[in-house]
Amino acid sequence: MRFPDLPEDVERDAHACLQCGYCNFVCPIQLDPDHGFESYRVRGKMYHLKQYAHPGLFARLSGNRARISPEFVERVYNCTACGYCQVACHVEIKFNDRWEQVKEWFVKNGIGPLDRHSALRTRVIAKHNPYDEPHETRADWIPKTAKISKNPEILYFAGCTASYRQQKIAQDATKVLDAAGVEYGILGGDEWCCGSPLIRTGQTDIVTDEKDGLVHHNINEVEKRGAKTLLTACAGCFMTLSHNYPKYAGRQSFEIFHMTQFIDRLILEKRLVLKKPLPKKVAYHDPCHIGRHFGIYEEPRRILNAFPDSHYLELPRNRENSQCCGAGGGYKIQFNDRAEYIASLRVQEARDIGAEMLVSACPFCVTNLTGGAKKAGIDMPVAELVSLVAESV
Ligand code: SF4
Ligand code: SF4
Repeated sequence: MRFPDLPEDVERDAHACLQCGYCNFVCPIQLDPDHGFESYRVRGKMYHLKQYAHPGLFARLSGNRARISPEFVERVYNCTACGYCQVACHVEIKFNDRWEQVKEWFVKNGIGPLDRHSALRTRVIAKHNPYDEPHETRADWIPKTAKISKNPEILYFAGCTASYRQQKIAQDATKVLDAAGVEYGILGGDEWCCGSPLIRTGQTDIVTDEKDGLVHHNINEVEKRGAKTLLTACAGCFMTLSHNYPKYAGRQSFEIFHMTQFIDRLILEKRLVLKKPLPKKVAYHDPCHIGRHFGIYEEPRRILNAFPDSHYLELPRNRENSQCCGAGGGYKIQFNDRAEYIASLRVQEARDIGAEMLVSACPFCVTNLTGGAKKAGIDMPVAELVSLVAESV
């Protein structure tokens, strides 16, 4: 079946692809031996798109045209949005946006997303979170002891994972802000899903809708309070709020910081002093959505170095070359076993350098790496950096 033309950027980049294959050695999907063959590879998918957009002479004469099959759609959704192919690409294809454009094109033409991604859509519309939890309980994580200010310039955006699944991380974030004497507020029950799992799976219509869309709702809530700064500990929320929101809303009326950036600044300004050493020998895992996507590499490391009498261990694959935990891009939601397999390899990497604990800076990475440790049968606690900081202030 023929669908309307590919988005212009995608078609242009499919042509630009050299078929050189440097991207083949970095994609986390290939770490699973069952999903390492060409149709799962970035190079294979780009060739398929190129042939679909502009078949060669033989294909045109013979009528053997490339088609967009359900199998091909499934291959494209085998992606964690880790951004490694963009780093590796020898013609600098902007894959971070391109894969999302391809998925958006699938959705517009009724051939995407995959079944579990569609369920996300239903849940987010009904309950404003992808976990099918009641919206009324969204703010239940907020500790009674949190020193919430009235009309503060700074707001904390917890995100769905920390609000419903990793509540300690959100609670620890308030503990850190309180320890530093920061005046802040919390969106709490007025916060909706940032839209990350929908955007990464091509379901952008309900995110961007001018009336009921998540983008406009969340921005309006921040602007209504006159806040100037939004903080989040979630790497997925950070990427969505920083990269997608200004694009969709056409404006940027407040600053956005990831908690690692903000804590780093508090430590540099001596407003926050870490008093206790790290609890164990920790290795730091770079979340893709703050690392490769935004270059936030040194802030978390400076925080780890600020713990007294301790140092952290560097994983062999780090910073730009960090290995994805396997959770992002809607991959874990659709392919949980495969996502945890990828995470298990990262846990093994940490064990092999003698780490006793893996630390990251994203609630979703913490969840998947914890699953990966279990899958690998390795006793490796996984912590959020903000929680280690909270234990040390
Ligand atoms: S973004 Fe990551 S997971 Fe997706 S295709 Fe590129 S390297 Fe593979
Ligand atoms: S590295 Fe870039 S140009 Fe080379 S095969 Fe991969 S996508 Fe194509």
